[in-house]
Amino acid sequence: MADNSILSLTDVLPLTCSRSGTCCHGKRVNINPWELFRLSEAKGINPREFRDSFCEYGGIRLKFNGESRWKGMPACSLYESGFGCSAHPGRPLVCRLYPLGRQILNEEQLYIYEGREFPCLEGCPEVLDLPRLTVAGYIEGQGAGDFEQAQDLYLEMMQNLADAAFMLLLETGLSESGDGKTLQLWRQMGSEKPEKLTERIGPMWMDRLMLPELKDCGENHETFIHRHYEMLISEAEEAFSAISGLDGFREASVLMMGLALHLGRSLGAGPEDLAEKWIAVARQNGARE
Ligand code: SF4
Repeated sequence: MADNSILSLTDVLPLTCSRSGTCCHGKRVNINPWELFRLSEAKGINPREFRDSFCEYGGIRLKFNGESRWKGMPACSLYESGFGCSAHPGRPLVCRLYPLGRQILNEEQLYIYEGREFPCLEGCPEVLDLPRLTVAGYIEGQGAGDFEQAQDLYLEMMQNLADAAFMLLLETGLSESGDGKTLQLWRQMGSEKPEKLTERIGPMWMDRLMLPELKDCGENHETFIHRHYEMLISEAEEAFSAISGLDGFREASVLMMGLALHLGRSLGAGPEDLAEKWIAVARQNGARE
C-alpha cells in the first residue's frame, strides 16, 4: 500500500484515453472464467478456441506475444497495431480500470494507482491535453460495474473451493489420522509457477475451472458464476463419491485447494499468501504439517 496512491471517487484525473495503446504492452492481464467467455464472444469464437489461441496457464492469463512496438515490450495477443484492442467490447476488468487498480481492504473498496506519478504520463503524456474525468465518471464510462461484481463473485467461489479443501482434510478423518502431507502440498502449490500448477490440476479440471459449458446465461455474470460454481461442486461431489481411503481424501483436498489457488491467481491474488493464510486456519483447526 505504501507505494500506491489511493483515490477518492471524486478525484479528477487525466483519465481520458489517448488510445496510443502503450498500456497493452508488457503487462500481465489475468482473466476470470466469465471474462474469458466475454472475450471469446467479442472475438466471435468459442471459449475453448479463445483459450487455446490467446491465453496461457489453462486460460487464466492473456498471452503477451504480439509485436514489441513500445519500449521493446511485447503487445497483448489481442492488440492489433493501428487498431487497438481487437476484443474491446469484452475487455476484462483490469483493462477497463487501467491505469487504476481496485483493492478490497476490510470490505472497503479502494481505487488506486501504482506509485506517486500518474502511470499514463510515461507512455501517453498527451493525455494532459485531453478532458479530465472523475474516478467515478471514468469507471462508469468503462462499463466496469458488472466486471467488478463478477470479480467479487469469483472471489466468493475461490473461498468456497478452499472451504471444500478444508472439509476434505478436517471432516474425513484425514487430519485426525495425523496426516501432515496435505498441508505440505497446499504450501508447495502456493509457491508453484502457474504452468506447474496448471499441470498438477490437469486438463479435465482446468476445463471445468475455465471453460464451464453453460447454456443461455453468457452475459449475465451473476447467473453464469452461480451456475458455474454449482456445476463444479456437483462434478467434484460425483468424482469424490467413490473415495474410500485417506490417500483419496488427500488427493481430493489438494485438487480443491489447487483450483482455489489457480482461481485466486486469475483474480489477481497471490497464491503464496492465500496458501499461507489457509494453512494457518487449518492448523488452528487441528491440522498439522
Ligand atoms: S485485452 Fe485489449 S485492452 Fe486489454 S491488454 Fe489486451 S489488447 Fe489491451
